[in-house]
Amino acid sequence: MAIDYLRVSVTDRCNLRCIYCYGMQECSFISRSEVLRFEEIERIVRLFGECGIRKVRLTGGEPLVRRNISQLVRKLVAIDDINELTLTTNGVLLDEMAEELKAAGLKRINISVDSAQKGNYRDITGFDLLEKVTQGIHKAIQVGLAPVKINSVILKGVNESQIPALAKLSIHLPVSVRFIEYCPTNRHTRPASDFIPNSQVRKAIEDKFGALSPTVDGDSNGPAVNLRIKNAAGTVGFISGRSSIFCQSCNRLRLTSDGMIKPCLYSSHHYDIKSLIRSGCGDGKIKELMKKILSEKGDFTKLTSSGEEFSMWNIGG
Ligand code: SAM
Repeated sequence: MAIDYLRVSVTDRCNLRCIYCYGMQECSFISRSEVLRFEEIERIVRLFGECGIRKVRLTGGEPLVRRNISQLVRKLVAIDDINELTLTTNGVLLDEMAEELKAAGLKRINISVDSAQKGNYRDITGFDLLEKVTQGIHKAIQVGLAPVKINSVILKGVNESQIPALAKLSIHLPVSVRFIEYCPTNRHTRPASDFIPNSQVRKAIEDKFGALSPTVDGDSNGPAVNLRIKNAAGTVGFISGRSSIFCQSCNRLRLTSDGMIKPCLYSSHHYDIKSLIRSGCGDGKIKELMKKILSEKGDFTKLTSSGEEFSMWNIGG
């Protein structure tokens, strides 16, 4: 398996407080001087590109709250070795920013939405912003950040009732609605008992809309299983990171906003690349570390992880 995908968290700050991500934590954010600067991120991505990374996703925290994020998009798009640059957002600021992101060279976008019902959305995120996010989804489609993917995490007793309404978005809009299984991360968020396997989510969709059929457009790269409701404009996808183990097909590394490389979401093991950069190391030395990380990636799997607590908002999901 070629390790060719890097998720880059550009900030640990977010404008929402989703109950399964930040939860009840008193967030102490990384001080600004510790957050990687754009030139540092650009250098890391360029050097990783020289080591085989081809696809980069910007995430957070919320990437659109990082000031001048479009400038970073422009810099990363210009790196020859990177074939694909994408971004995951909660969509709150997308209505006003979609055009400039597209103009900066962003090709497509993932938007996290866990409910189609205003009050339920507020209960999950802490903010009454579903309308704004909906405007953002439409703007992303309009400016051609395609295909727009919608990510939904379903929690028992919280938003199960929203499964059909979320899936229905794929009937009328050219979007892929992907159901991501809840991953319990730490004691401040939701209990592990809130987990619902995607088999149940799929059943709820099929009970309402009939059997799902395989997509014919071949859009099934990565861990998502993509299917279609009959005659739908878009697709529904299932990312089942908890009920299945896809370590063998995991092609991703993560760069945290404070400059740590994490080979595996489930392992606390990390490499401090920021210190190398800030101590004035040359490109050769940094690439040596990158090659070591890439070669060791296969040693880390969910099965061998220590089971320590972590936070998605810190790492970037
Ligand atoms: N703020 C952006 C957003 O909302 O998409 C990017 C960061 S967020 C941490 C990235 C993704 O991680 C989102 O799709 C979110 O739903 C997902 N996520 C966060 N906590 C999760 C958890 N405990 N289990 C599964 N997915 C989670």
